[in-house]
Amino acid sequence: MHTQVLIVGAGPVGLTMAAELARYGVSVRIVDKAPQRTDKSKALVLWSRTLELLERGPGSARFIAAGFKAQAVNFIAGDKLIGRVDMGAVDTPFPFGLMIPQADTERLLEEYLAELGVTVERGVEVTDFSCELDGVTATLLQSDGSDDLVSAEWLIGCDGAHSLVRHTVGAPFTGETMPSDWMLADVHMRGYPCPDSEASVYWHKDGAFVIFPISPGRYRLIADLPPSGEAHPPTPTLEQVQAVIQRRGPPGMTAHDPIWLAGFRINGRKVSNYRWGRAFLVGDAAHVHSPAGGQGMNTGMQDAFNLAWKLALVVGGECRETLLDSYSLERSFVGDQVLKSAQRLTVVGTLKNPVARTVRNAVGHVMLGLASVKHAFADTMTQVSVGYPAGPLNGVEIHGDGYTAGERYRPALEGAPSGIRATPHFQLFASSDIIANALPAPLARLVESRIGPDLGDRLYLVRPDGYLACSTRCIDDVSAYLNQIAPPQAPAA
Ligand SMILES: Cc1cc2nc3c(=O)[nH]c(=O)nc-3n(C[C@H](O)[C@H](O)[C@H](O)COP(=O)(O)OP(=O)(O)OC[C@H]3O[C@@H](n4cnc5c(N)ncnc54)[C@H](O)[C@@H]3O)c2cc1C
Repeated sequence: MHTQVLIVGAGPVGLTMAAELARYGVSVRIVDKAPQRTDKSKALVLWSRTLELLERGPGSARFIAAGFKAQAVNFIAGDKLIGRVDMGAVDTPFPFGLMIPQADTERLLEEYLAELGVTVERGVEVTDFSCELDGVTATLLQSDGSDDLVSAEWLIGCDGAHSLVRHTVGAPFTGETMPSDWMLADVHMRGYPCPDSEASVYWHKDGAFVIFPISPGRYRLIADLPPSGEAHPPTPTLEQVQAVIQRRGPPGMTAHDPIWLAGFRINGRKVSNYRWGRAFLVGDAAHVHSPAGGQGMNTGMQDAFNLAWKLALVVGGECRETLLDSYSLERSFVGDQVLKSAQRLTVVGTLKNPVARTVRNAVGHVMLGLASVKHAFADTMTQVSVGYPAGPLNGVEIHGDGYTAGERYRPALEGAPSGIRATPHFQLFASSDIIANALPAPLARLVESRIGPDLGDRLYLVRPDGYLACSTRCIDDVSAYLNQIAPPQAPAA
């Protein structure tokens, strides 16, 4: 009953984590207390950056085949179009939001995991665990009521907003719950006046009303409602949904045949430390926030992409354990930004004061008329601008050549290593592989050489997750960088 990594929770984040580790050759067990995968649509969108990262493992094609491409978001107040953000110009092979119900995302990830030989153990709950210096021991409650003890080198809490892992390590989950109730309605609808490939955000004096296309004729509607005062936000009826449509939306829309109706409240909460010794917090276990912008699941999956290659290198003895500390620093920084922007979008969309609304509409119209603002908005939403500008893994850089350490390295997307690989590799872009061959053997093992004939004397070292580690004209800088993360070498005899 030993495994290198025990993953608690098989939601989209746990499945991503397991798939990445398994394709890197790490032995994993992944357990989930629920007897079945969710059948709910929950998170609806895979953004461009997540698709880029999925491309390296399962490939994006299977997700794209099951989804529907949304190209733009309209912001509307009354009968006036305040602005339109188009994702078509985002510099990515996937310039769209891929609308795909969370249930399908999970199904496809689980199918990929099965291709890698890993089965999710369902109906198995982690009820307790303890961390020692060199490993973790966890108690698994099986569906027949029996307990098993499992030992692991590392434990990863992908166990959602009410995380047992977070409670057990005692990580404070600081933030607040918004004082409003929200309705979610996945419905069929007639009369949507925009193309089906576009989402719309209606800023109404009663509050926000958002329409996301799921597939032609099928939509997700979200709106804030006055606080009900009840312990749990009430589930809306179809009649209540229709009343919101008529009051806040454009005329002539009729909802019918609801697929999923739910009430929810918005929490904005986050831990500040994502690593607790041998345990990690990933996804909703580490951060929850407003669904505005649809960033939650994508941020969680990208936490997993960030941690997986580091853990694989450490488990394989290729890198020193301190590499793992960078996970918390990098992803907590991103989590803070996502929380702030989701909160800002929510507050802006739910303004009630008439003067504030008038100002918002006027400023919004001017700002969303500027190409630079629209580009920045689209880059943020699609998460291609996520990076680690002050990250602990950033090495030296050539100033002014267009790439900054910690930034997503765009050229690494083309022909990036993909599929099943035993060890994650850094990519070294250089004009010839003679340069990469100059690295000492223990460091060369970490690197895969990529030839860019137009690079001249420049060298770009790119992390396994596609972010620039360092740029330089001197291979010694690359050696120095890798030496910092590689295990100390035994002195020559
Ligand atoms: C109504 C609703 C609408 C949403 N809409 C959006 C959206 O539009 N966009 C977006 O990005 N996000 C949205 N989200 C949020 C999104 O669903 C989450 O961000 C995402 O599911 C987080 O994934 P996760 O894997 O971290 O956690 P979860 O999906 O919560 O998965 C955690 C898993 O851990 C398991 N588990 C928990 N405790 C244990 C234990 N002790 N032992 C074993 N297993 C355990 C659970 O059974 C569960 O399967 C929505 C959520 C809800 C509820």
